[in-house]
Amino acid sequence: MPENSSPINSVLEQLSLSGHKKVVFCNDPDTGLKAIIAIHDTTLGPAIGGTRMWNYNSEAEALEDVLRLSKGMTYKAAITGINLGGGKAVIIGDSRKQKSEALMRSFGRFIKNLNGEFITAEDVGTTVKDMEYIRMETQHVTGVPESLGGAGNPAPYTAKGVFLGIKACVKEVFGTDMLAGRSVVVQGIGNVGEHLVELLRQENVEVYVSDINQDRLQVVASKYKAKPIDADKIFTIGADIYAPCALGATVNDKTIKTMKFAIIAGSANNQLADEQKHGQLLLEKGILYAPDYLINAGGLINCYSELTGYGKKRTIQLTENIYEATKEVIKLSKSENIPTNLAASRIAEKRIEDIKKIKSSY
Ligand code: NAD
Repeated sequence: MPENSSPINSVLEQLSLSGHKKVVFCNDPDTGLKAIIAIHDTTLGPAIGGTRMWNYNSEAEALEDVLRLSKGMTYKAAITGINLGGGKAVIIGDSRKQKSEALMRSFGRFIKNLNGEFITAEDVGTTVKDMEYIRMETQHVTGVPESLGGAGNPAPYTAKGVFLGIKACVKEVFGTDMLAGRSVVVQGIGNVGEHLVELLRQENVEVYVSDINQDRLQVVASKYKAKPIDADKIFTIGADIYAPCALGATVNDKTIKTMKFAIIAGSANNQLADEQKHGQLLLEKGILYAPDYLINAGGLINCYSELTGYGKKRTIQLTENIYEATKEVIKLSKSENIPTNLAASRIAEKRIEDIKKIKSSY
C-alpha cells in the first residue's frame, strides 16, 4: 500500500482540507463508549456543537458526519455574530439500546479533558437527560433544564429567527415586510413549525401546513386556522413562501423543477440537497433562499445566552439581529450575483478572518 493511502494519512489529510483544528477519538471499553469530537475553529470562542448519537454504518461515515457538521457550526456561529467557534460530537451506537448514565458520564469526562475548548448540547439521539449526565462531569454543556440554570426550550427562538428571516426576504421581493396577505407553506409543524405558524397567523398570513403526523396536523391546523395540505401538494401549490421545518434536502432537482415559490425560508438544517448546485439553480430561477443556518440560529443564540448568563431579553435581542443579517446576505448576493448560501459563507469567513487579525496583533 503506498504510504499516503494509509488510514492515518487520509484522516489527517481530510482534516487539513477541511481546516479542522482538532479531532478527539474517544474509546471507553468499560461503558462501550465510542465517540468522536471534532473542533473545527475556535477563533471566535470555544467550539460549540451538539452531540449526535447515531448507529453509523462505519467509523468513516461517523467521521465524515462529525467533520461536516462541526464546520457548519463554525459558519453558523460566525454569521450570527456571537463569540463561539464550531464543533460537533458523535457517539457511535443505537441511542435506544446502548445509552446509559455511565456512557454519557464517560463521554462528559472526555469533554472535561478539553478544558472548555468544546461545549456540547442536545442533538439527534440525545436528550436533556443526557445533558444532565454530562453536566455531572463537566460544566461545558448547554441545553440543561431550566431548573439547573439552563435557558429552556430553544424552539420559540428558532421560530422567531425564521419568522424574521421570512420578513427580510419578503421585504426584498415584495418591497415591504408587511406579511398580511402573503401565503406560506410550513412543512413540519413540530416544535419550531408550530411556533412559526403562530407568529405567521398573528400577522394574518395565509398558512398551509403539512406533516406526516396526521393527528398533529389536524390539531395545529384548527388551533391556528391554517389549511392542512397533503405532502404531495407542497411543491405544486402557488404560495409565496416555502418554510421547510421538518427534514433536510427537500430542495433538490425534483422539487426545484415544479416549485412556484418566490422565497424559501425555514428552520430545517441542510435544506439544499447539493449546496453548490441547488444554490445556483435557485438563483437562476429567481427564488430567494434564506440560508438555513443563518435564520435557524435562534436555538444556538439561546445556548449562547445560557453560557454567558444573559437572560431571555438578550436572547430576543440577539435573535432579532437575524433580520439585518439576512438583508446583508441578500445585498451581497445581489451585488456579486452569487447564490445567497455562498454570500452567507463569505460573510462568515470574513468575520473569522477579521477577528483572527486583531487577535494576532496584540
Ligand atoms: P420536531 O421533531 O419537533 O418536528 C418535526 C416535525 O416534522 C414533526 O412534527 C414531524 O412529524 C414532521 N415531519 C417529519 N418528516 C416529515 C415530512 N416528510 N413531511 C412533513 N412533516 C414531517 O423538530 P423541530 O425541533 O421542530 O425542528 C424542525 C427542524 O428544524 C429540524 O430539521 C431541526 O433540525 C431544525 N432545527 C430545529 C431547532 C430547534 O430549536 N428545535 C434549531 C435549529 C434547527
